[in-house]
Amino acid sequence: MINESCYKLGAEPSVIRSLFAYGLQQTALVGPEKVFDYSLGNPSIPAPGAVNASIKDIIDSMDSIQVHGYTMAAGLAGARQAVAEDLERRFGLPVKAQELFFTCGAAPALISVIKALAADVSSEIMLLAPFFPEYLPFVEQNGARAVIVPPDTGSFQLPLARLEALISPRTQAIIVNSPNNPSGVIYSRESLEALAALLERKSGEYGHPIYIVADEPYRELVYDGAEVPFIPCIYKNTVVCYSYSKSLSLPGERIGYVYVPGFARDAQQLYTAIAGAARVMGHVCPPSLMQLVIARCAGERPDLAAYDENRRLLYGSLSAMGYQCVNPQGAFYLLVKAPGGDSIAFSEKARLQQNLLLVPADGFGCPGYLRLSYCVSRDMIERSLPAFKALLG
Ligand code: PLP
Repeated sequence: MINESCYKLGAEPSVIRSLFAYGLQQTALVGPEKVFDYSLGNPSIPAPGAVNASIKDIIDSMDSIQVHGYTMAAGLAGARQAVAEDLERRFGLPVKAQELFFTCGAAPALISVIKALAADVSSEIMLLAPFFPEYLPFVEQNGARAVIVPPDTGSFQLPLARLEALISPRTQAIIVNSPNNPSGVIYSRESLEALAALLERKSGEYGHPIYIVADEPYRELVYDGAEVPFIPCIYKNTVVCYSYSKSLSLPGERIGYVYVPGFARDAQQLYTAIAGAARVMGHVCPPSLMQLVIARCAGERPDLAAYDENRRLLYGSLSAMGYQCVNPQGAFYLLVKAPGGDSIAFSEKARLQQNLLLVPADGFGCPGYLRLSYCVSRDMIERSLPAFKALLG
């Protein structure tokens, strides 16, 4: 016998992956200049020069056994210390190296935290739509129940009234992703403060803490000087899941961390349970070369000029044509209302008529919308504009 739910997850490729595979197939058939692939969130700017320089220097100057060896499960002391200092300098919190647990990116960070908080099968983790679709298997395959809060399609800020209606004594945590995939919206300080007040009230009422799990792979990807409030500064029972996949353009290198602030309720127990969950998944000791790189490059930030240009071009051009777009403040996604209201039908039409690959946001808990990843070449965006226009005609 084979585990049925794992089989199903393996057998059904995600919509995003299917569109991406279709794009590769069409590119071989009709040529790359006739395929407009907005499916995948794969960074299109290079890693900062300091990252590649560090990799070379580490390989050339350090002992190979040490570079490629196992590290402590929680990560190298130097990497944890560098991140702690960077966070403390930027956000003014007393961050300690031992509050950080290095992971192979945000996905295993999230799974470890979810597993650690899934006290029993009735434990609920709330997902605020629109949300990253992988949250669903992360929650449902790791011992908890996902409770989906429908989006506020007026502002795409936190849907607080709906959240309050769905919160329950079984709620263990709420996953908050800002800047948001797929809307590009940054949750305002005001709405996060309102969320914090609600959770403090409900935690008191239910007699146990309700944690915020802050999923932050896009923290550094912001435009026009927008502020991304650091949630532990607003709500103390927050656990941060961070990734360098997008901020340093290193998605294939698998490196990130969990930060459990020492002032969070039951911080030590929670940190220990996260370490245990990572052990169960076999996700201890993320790539040691990358940990050495982070020890040197924790303060590096991406050059966002190319994403910002794409953002302006795509948002401006589609809005001028009559598409209704959510104005992205961060990340590299544009959320667009599907003309006619049926996102799956529109995505199909765009694919079949124009080789234009747009992801229906239904899987993100946001039916009627399409997600466009603009981490692509500017040239592709320019070439794709007539296709968008033709679809409206
Ligand atoms: N969370 C969100 C919101 C994402 O968009 C992604 C990846 O696209 C992840 C988590 C997983 O990132 P990682 O590559 O660090 O596992």
